[in-house]
Amino acid sequence: MSSFQKSETIYASQLETGNLTLINELAKQAFKRPTDNHRLQGETLQRWSTSMESMKEFLCKSKEAMKKVQLSRVKSLVDSAYNNVPFYREFYGACGYVEGGISSFSDFEQLPIVSKAILNSFDDSTRVNNPDVIERAHIARTSGSSGKPFSVYRDDNYIVLEHLHLMRFYNSCLQTPLREHDWIYMIHHAGLAFSSLHGKYRTFQLPDLLPDTPLGEHLLFLRPKLLVTLPSYLPIILRHKAELIMSGVEAVLTNSESSTQLERTYYSKALGVPVFDEYSSEEIGMIATQCPHGQYHVAEDNVFLEIVNEDEQGFGNVICTGLSNELMPLIRYDHGDVAKGVRDQKCCECGSLCTSLKEINGRRDDAFRTYEHKLVPSASILAAVDDILLATDRTLGAFRLVQTSSDTIELLTKYIGEPNKNMPTMLEQLKIRLSSLFGYTVNLLHFEVDTLPEQNSYKRRSIVREWELD
Ligand SMILES: [Zn+2]
Repeated sequence: MSSFQKSETIYASQLETGNLTLINELAKQAFKRPTDNHRLQGETLQRWSTSMESMKEFLCKSKEAMKKVQLSRVKSLVDSAYNNVPFYREFYGACGYVEGGISSFSDFEQLPIVSKAILNSFDDSTRVNNPDVIERAHIARTSGSSGKPFSVYRDDNYIVLEHLHLMRFYNSCLQTPLREHDWIYMIHHAGLAFSSLHGKYRTFQLPDLLPDTPLGEHLLFLRPKLLVTLPSYLPIILRHKAELIMSGVEAVLTNSESSTQLERTYYSKALGVPVFDEYSSEEIGMIATQCPHGQYHVAEDNVFLEIVNEDEQGFGNVICTGLSNELMPLIRYDHGDVAKGVRDQKCCECGSLCTSLKEINGRRDDAFRTYEHKLVPSASILAAVDDILLATDRTLGAFRLVQTSSDTIELLTKYIGEPNKNMPTMLEQLKIRLSSLFGYTVNLLHFEVDTLPEQNSYKRRSIVREWELD
């Protein structure tokens, strides 16, 4: 019995704090992912060793070969969704789709676009190919940018693939591929699916970075190859530049929030290591990653990406078809983002022929600011809402956080039925989290509303700053 239990124990990455008390305190706050178990770690390790090379080669395939793989995948995805997912049966049936109706991408582009709002108007069980497994599925509840919670269900295969796509990206940023004993350092509220793969490819996660966090000392202790972070933390990381270089970090990767190429170039020069950005989401997983030549290359084996309704400058809506999620297919899904594609694309200097994005629209204007004008990461605020308001409650219909002064935030909620009985406790917890993100006490005012007030912007926002900087 004891030997059985021992074999199931997973490597405790978060204990590698180098006896630094402040690191230890922060590390303990990291949320342990339910996916992080011995069985799935093992499956991922096994898949990585067998498919690492072919995944790398896929990105250098000819355009035709890549499109052929995608078309075949998209065809079977649509038919399988039409046959097994009640939502698509109804949605596609209503526009006259019949099985086998796709033989080209132009056929595919005739299918109607789905949005979070459309999907959310259907019951969760009608959006998956097997409602019986919904209780056991991996679930991501995202507040996203629309303000209405949205559940994405994934199976084991998706979780494994999502991690493999990340590892491929990590390797593309390094001079030599990750070795089994290498560390990845995450300064991010959201950890990876796995803290290690049976003790290999280990990750250490700090869910936040504070001005007094002894990051430099800890980097020298762990000596990670990569540092993965939110762009908002780059100014604090810069204060630990000397230790970062000495510890052997080869690249800094950013995700979750938008940052401009100008900022990344600035920090890359200032830190003395390249900074690469990743565009991914809870709904789709990996969408696109930056190469050393600054281009965002689409992960064509994970997503079929379209940019529609382009404006004169070339900005259009990002429409994604997820190629890895069989359980809850997202087909021609409007991601709510705006991006600009590269026209007349040739082979990138890095050798990639994947679709390339030039720019991914930022939503920075909405970000909260402290009285000192410091930006409070929107992703961290959304994570606090996810953890406190959404994790235990499925009756929250929609919400919006509005910053109305340097120390006042209004929370508007629209509950389906009665508001949660624990609301006072939840509000207190949220206030504490927000205050810790701001670095001083903020007032949180709560209003239960029948409908969220309309916004002037092109899409609904869950984080709005109405207070203007002096
Ligand atoms: Zn490239």
